[in-house]
Order: sequence, then structure tokens, then C-alpha cells
Amino acid sequence: MSSSWLSLEEALSKALAATHVVSDIETISLFSAHRRVVAQDIVALLDVPPWDNSAMDGFAINAKSYTQGQALTVQGIIPAGEKASTPLSAGHAYKIMTGAPIPDGANAVVMIENCDSDNNGNVIINDTPTQGQNIRAKANDIAQGQVLIKKGTQLRAEHLMLLSSQGLDEVVVYRKLRVGIVATGNELAAPGESRSDTQIYESNRVGISAILSDENVEVVDFGIVEDDKASLTRLFNQAASNTAGTNTKTSADNNVDIMVSSGGVSVGDADYVKDVIEAMGHIEFWKIAVKPGKPFALGRLNNTVFCGLPGNPVSSFVTAKLLVLPIISKMQGRQDGHTALTVTATLTKDIKRRAGRRDYQRATMSYDDNGNLVVTPFKTQSSGVMTSITSANCFMIIHEDISTLAIGDTVPVMPFT
Ligand code: AMP
Ligand code: MG
Repeated sequence: MSSSWLSLEEALSKALAATHVVSDIETISLFSAHRRVVAQDIVALLDVPPWDNSAMDGFAINAKSYTQGQALTVQGIIPAGEKASTPLSAGHAYKIMTGAPIPDGANAVVMIENCDSDNNGNVIINDTPTQGQNIRAKANDIAQGQVLIKKGTQLRAEHLMLLSSQGLDEVVVYRKLRVGIVATGNELAAPGESRSDTQIYESNRVGISAILSDENVEVVDFGIVEDDKASLTRLFNQAASNTAGTNTKTSADNNVDIMVSSGGVSVGDADYVKDVIEAMGHIEFWKIAVKPGKPFALGRLNNTVFCGLPGNPVSSFVTAKLLVLPIISKMQGRQDGHTALTVTATLTKDIKRRAGRRDYQRATMSYDDNGNLVVTPFKTQSSGVMTSITSANCFMIIHEDISTLAIGDTVPVMPFT
């Protein structure tokens, strides 16, 4: 293996160092904020809960003055959404519903299942109540002024619910990244259109678009471009921002924050992508010791980051997940430590391979009869075999230094999400 190939970690750290955060902000409705990234710390405006309230349907009593076996007179009923008009009197209990405010003078709630009533309609408690029981204290979940959601968090359903519970209907986020996608290759025909007998249907744009869409970016489709320098130059001119250093982009512009291409980054005669970027801007690196996915070019034209993925559909799928997603996270301003989850599983097959590159084998993981996670790599690992990804549910990762593995060995696996 040539020493000019970077390990995945080296490539990632170079890529993250060479990319910027797109820091324009906007205020948007919570209903469109799923997976957008918060641009400033969000501080609680309200205590939650706003008052001491009952965790149960039951009776609110004073546990301190109560004597065991005492019959308590029902003073009234407090439904959720109302409060008692008078403080609890000695020898009394309030019937209270879950969420209703605890009346003054009460300090415990006895659940309804532990209460009976006597012939006179008084409450008899079959419990030894303790002070504070079944009471949710004011502010015990959230105190006004505390940081609720940190800058750099990617919002999901749970965050949106939290903001909503604070009475907020909008949130300040970084603007959506604009990400261009393009497929390069003279042999490619667009799905839905006719193809010549030497063409294949293009499959990468839609896959990359789906992977990117999970991060709520705006995808701009640049279609299919031929393998010639003039076409590629025209494409990258269109895609790259004209003004170095500016973050401002609108949908009216055709330029993008990131351009993701597939194909043409290897060493074939028609592989011009790298040369064109190099001529117009700058290439950071272009070879990584990962299988599949060796040729992956990272570059920059003005303020547009360029990710050149290999054309093989499997390789483009792998490199989009391993490299493009972390770059997207960085540029989106995420600071929530997003990393792909890796677990370990037991191998069901012996493996022999040439060491040198980190291998992301397409594999199926499942639980065996004893509840242990086991993993079986797909029968062929050629990057030209697309059914290797559709038949798999995870990557099985083989470290660059390893050349043999045996049945029963433990290996890291990364589930497809
Ligand atoms: P390249 O990286 O351009 O050398 O392409 C490697 C292999 O992937 C070739 O067999 C190409 O025909 C194929 N390929 C490139 N781009 C695509 C694409 N968008 N969809 C399907 N196959 C592709
Ligand atoms: Mg090609």
C-alpha cells in the first residue's frame, strides 16, 4: 500500500480541518425544524412543572398531621387544569387528579387504589403516607434559566416536544446546507429515459440524495455530466460560490456549499474530476485506505467544498456514509458528538484477505438462538455488486492490519441506519 493513502481517521481529520461551519442563521417553525441544527443555546423560559402537582389520581392529605386509620372528610375535587379554592383543612382530604396542583396545606398524595370510603363518605387510607409522596415538585424537571438545548444540537422529535412545552413555536437554527449532487460518466443514462446499448442506468444520485436528506439538507441535482474537461469545468463553475469567504446563498443561486460528485476520480483515462478541481481550486487529498472506496477526493473551489466519490455504486454508498456525512455534520454546525454507532458481533465465517486497507464488508447481523449478536459477510464483496448492499444490514469492519479472522472472533459492526 502506498504511503500516500490516508487512513480513514487521517482523511476524516483532514476533511474536518479543511471545512467550515456555514453559520448563517434563520428562525423557523418547530414544525419544519426536525434535524435542523440549533444556532444558539436555548434557555428555559418556564419552570416545568410550573407548580407542585399530583403524580397520581388519589387524595391530597397532610401526612404530618394525619394519624393512622383516621377518617378524613372530603373537602372537594381538584381536576387537572384547576386549583383548590381553599387550603386543605385539618382532618380533610382533597380528591385530586394527576397533574392538578397540590393545594396549600397538603404534602402527600395517596393513590386512589389505596383508599376506601366509610359509610359517611369519608376517606379511609390503607397506606402509611409519607411527606412528599406522589408529588412532582415545581421545577424538578426544568428550572427557568437553565440551558435546555445546547448550540450545535441537531433537533429531533424529543427536542421539539421540549421546546413546545416551553410555549415556543419557533427556533433559531443554521440555514440549510445546499448540497449539489452530480454523476459523471459517458456511459450513464438517466433513469426514466432511453439508453443506448453501451450505456448503464445511473444509480448514485438518488442514493446520495437519500443519505443526505436524512440530515435535512437542500439537495440540488446537477444531473449527469460527461467525462470531458470542458463540461466538468462548466459544472464546477456553476456549483462553486463566486465569492470566496461569503456564506450567503439563496435558492436563486445555483451555487452550493458542498458539491458531491460520483465517478471520474480514479486513474482511468477519462477520470478528469480531480484534475479539473485542482486546476480551478485545490485538492486536499484523494486516496484513502478504505475498501471499498479508495479514490475519494476532497477539495475546495472558493467557498464550496468538493467531495468526489468513486463511481461504483457500492463505493459511493460507503464513502457517502463514512466521509460525506461527517463533513455535513461539521458544516451544519453540529457539536453534539455525532458518530456512527458501532457494536461488536461474533463472526460466523473464516476470512482471509490482503491487509492494508480498512474493509467495510457488507454483512448481515442477527441474534442466534442464545441471544448473541452474530454477523455473516455477504458472499461476494466486489464493489461492483450492488446486491451486496441491499442484502446487508450492516458493515462488518476489518482493521487494516488484519488479514485473517476465524469463526467465533469478535468484530466491530456498524448497522445501517
Ligand atoms: P469510475 O469511478 O468513474 O471509474 O466508475 C467506476 C464504475 O462505476 C464504472 O463501472 C462505472 O460505469 C460505474 N459508475 C460510475 N458512476 C455510476 C453511477 N452514477 N451509477 C452507476 N454506476 C456508475
Ligand atoms: Mg467514470
